[in-house]
Amino acid sequence: MDTAFASREQDRLLAELTEFLSIPSISALPAHAADCRRAAEWLKRHLAALGVPKVHIIEGPGHPVVWAEGPEIPGKPTLLIYGHYDVQPPDPLDEWTTPPFSPTIRDGKLYARGASDDKGQVYCLLKAYEAVLDAKRRPPLNVHFIFEGEEECGGKVIYELLRREPERTQADAVLVCDMSYYAPGWPGVYTALRGLCYAEISVRTLQRDLHSGTYGGVAPNALETLARILAELKTPDGRIQIPGLYEAVQPPTKTELDVWSKLPFDREDFLRREVTGKALTGLQDRTVFERVWALPTFEIHGIKGGFIGEGAKTVIPAQATAKVSLRLVPGQQYEKVARALQRRVAELAPKWAEVSVNLLHGGDPVQVDVSAPAFAVLDQAFKEVVGRKAVPVRAGGSIPIVPELGASGAPVILTGIGLPDDGLHSPNEKLDVSQLLSGIQIFGRFFELFAEKGGGVPMAYSSSSSSGETRLTGPE
Ligand SMILES: [Zn+2]
Repeated sequence: MDTAFASREQDRLLAELTEFLSIPSISALPAHAADCRRAAEWLKRHLAALGVPKVHIIEGPGHPVVWAEGPEIPGKPTLLIYGHYDVQPPDPLDEWTTPPFSPTIRDGKLYARGASDDKGQVYCLLKAYEAVLDAKRRPPLNVHFIFEGEEECGGKVIYELLRREPERTQADAVLVCDMSYYAPGWPGVYTALRGLCYAEISVRTLQRDLHSGTYGGVAPNALETLARILAELKTPDGRIQIPGLYEAVQPPTKTELDVWSKLPFDREDFLRREVTGKALTGLQDRTVFERVWALPTFEIHGIKGGFIGEGAKTVIPAQATAKVSLRLVPGQQYEKVARALQRRVAELAPKWAEVSVNLLHGGDPVQVDVSAPAFAVLDQAFKEVVGRKAVPVRAGGSIPIVPELGASGAPVILTGIGLPDDGLHSPNEKLDVSQLLSGIQIFGRFFELFAEKGGGVPMAYSSSSSSGETRLTGPE
C-alpha cells in the first residue's frame, strides 16, 4: 500500500472528516432525523467517489442503513465492514470548549461529537480502503460495507434488514471498528462485550400534583416512591439486588485474568483523569477490570418528575420516571434479566402506587473466539504499524448488533483506533489525529494481508505462557 498516503493527504482528510462530523446526526432526537439522512447520504456520495460500484440507502422504520459493495475481486476473500453514522446527543452543551458540531483541532486532537464514536472510525476505514486501491480503483479483496444510523438509539432498521436478508453477513470476516486501544500504544482486540437492558421505571401515585402544605403528610409522593424502589435495586457497596442475577454470570477464564493482571494500569490515574471522581465504587473485592468487563451493572441515567425549575414550588408530584439500565456479561440473557427486573420492581411497588417497567431496548452480551486466522492478520497489521500486537481485552460497552453480524459464522473482529480518554458520549469527545493517520495505515495493511491470507491456511498455533496470551500468531 501507499504508506505515505495518510500523512501526505492529511489536510484533505481532515477537511473531509470535518464535513462529516459537522452533520448533527443525533439518532435519538426526532428533530435530527433529516440530519441522520444527510449523514447517510454523505457516506453514499463518499463511497461512490471512491469507485464503489454498488451503494444503496436502505429504508426502514427509522434512520436508513447504507449498504455498499466494492468491485468484485474473484478468488479473494470478502470482508464485511460495520460502523454507525449516528451519534449521541451532545448535552450538556455548555461543557464543550468548542461546539460539538463545529469540529476543531487543538493539540493534535480533533474535537467533535462522533469524532471517535463512530464517525471518525468509519472515516478511517474508508480512507484505509482508499489507500489500497490500485490505479483502476480496485481494492485487493472483496469489501462490503454496512453502516447504520441507529446504534445509539436502539433502532430496528438494521435488525429487520439482516433478518430479512441474512446472506448480507456472508463474509470471511466482519470488521467492527467502534472500539478503543487499551491504552496509548496498546491496541486492543475484544473478546467480550457487555449486553444491555435499558428500561424506564414509571410511578404514579395521584391523579394530579398536589399542594404540599395542604396534603403533605398524607398524600403518596411519586418521586419518593420511585427513589425508594431505585435504592432497593442496588446496595451501597455495589451489589445488584435482583434475584438470580449473578447466578448465570460466567467468570473470566484464568488466561483472561492473567492477561488483565499484566496490563499497564495506574489506578490513581484512572480515578483522577478518566473517572474524574473521588473514589471508585462497586464491589471492592473484585478488581477494576472485573467490575467494568466481567460483572453486570445497574445504573440510573435520569429521573423526571415534580418541579425542577428555578426557585421553589411546593408540589407533591403525582408521577415520576427513571431511566435505568443493566449491563450484562457473558452467561446472562437480555430476556431473562428484563423479566427479573420487572418482577423485582413489581415486588418493591407499594400498594399505593402504579408502577411499570417499560423496556426500551437491549441486547445479549457477546463472546468472541479470537482464534480465527483473521485475528492473526490483524495482529500482524498492528505489529507492523504500531509495534505491538492487539492485546485481548473485554469491553464494558455494548454493540447490540454484533451477534447478528456474526450470524453466518464469520469471525467478528472488534477493534478500533480510539483512545480510552476520547470522551465517548461525553462533552469534548475527541479523536487524536495521530490515531486516525496510523489507523488508516493499520487497516490498509490489514486489507492487504487479509487479501493474501484471510480464510486461508490456519497459521501456526502458539501458546505463549510468558505473556499469558493464547492466540494464533502469524509470521512477524
Ligand atoms: Zn459506537
